[in-house]
Amino acid sequence: MAVRAWEPGSIRELDLHLPDCDMSRWTSAQHIKCKVGALSYRDYTPSGWDAETHTCTLLIHTAHQGAGSRWAQLLQPGDTISYRGPGSSHQQPAAGRQICFLGDETTIGHFLALQQLTKPGTAIGGAIVLGEAHHRQEFQDYFPGWGVQALHKNAQGDYRELDNWVDALVPQEHADTVFYLAGYVPGVLRLRKQLRRKGFTGSQVQAQGFWD
Ligand SMILES: Cc1cc2nc3c(=O)[nH]c(=O)nc-3n(C[C@H](O)[C@H](O)[C@H](O)COP(=O)(O)OP(=O)(O)OC[C@H]3O[C@@H](n4cnc5c(N)ncnc54)[C@H](O)[C@@H]3O)c2cc1C
Repeated sequence: MAVRAWEPGSIRELDLHLPDCDMSRWTSAQHIKCKVGALSYRDYTPSGWDAETHTCTLLIHTAHQGAGSRWAQLLQPGDTISYRGPGSSHQQPAAGRQICFLGDETTIGHFLALQQLTKPGTAIGGAIVLGEAHHRQEFQDYFPGWGVQALHKNAQGDYRELDNWVDALVPQEHADTVFYLAGYVPGVLRLRKQLRRKGFTGSQVQAQGFWD
């Protein structure tokens, strides 16, 4: 239905109309497998969905060379897409707990989906690494009420700022927090280990790798 690009254009927001999709039953973050080439599918996360109108938005990071990235860069309003799914990512917000998101550009849609499923008043914090200075600015402007910080990333898969952020956490202040990790697989695995070493329990750390 519509395509918006962040400035510079390496994050694209795609508004989709998915008439066959029953979104009223979504109780966890979902992903759809979009057909991005003759035999290629890539996973993307619907966020900001409206079950009545069957619409939702994908946020796709396109700063690298890949079939999915190229597909997302070429899409225009009015195009038809093919997809399989949706399927559940198995991450859902824990009721009555504080929420902490840790990820990169590919996870913004996923975290917005989890936010949509939280009860009003849920405390949300965390940090996201973004490669472009202007994207960090846009992130803070678009989501002013979010307690999620935009941190610097030097290169693809650079999660060092997130490592430092987690290092600085005081476990006693987060006894009631559930951490949602997503994005670059080696970065996610490292953050999970770091959080477990700090004493957080397995049920407090929900991890999902998106790309490697
Ligand atoms: C459940 C799930 C949900 C997902 N939701 C989203 C989403 O909402 N938005 C989104 O953008 N992605 C999302 N992803 C990730 C997306 O499916 C992958 O990033 C995808 O594989 C990239 O596809 P591609 O064809 O562009 O690159 P590929 O062909 O997979 O990779 C080509 C090259 O680019 C590198 N690369 C891949 N992705 C990135 C990246 N993001 N940054 C830098 N280098 C990269 C690879 O290491 C490789 O060298 C999700 C993945 C999963 C599993």
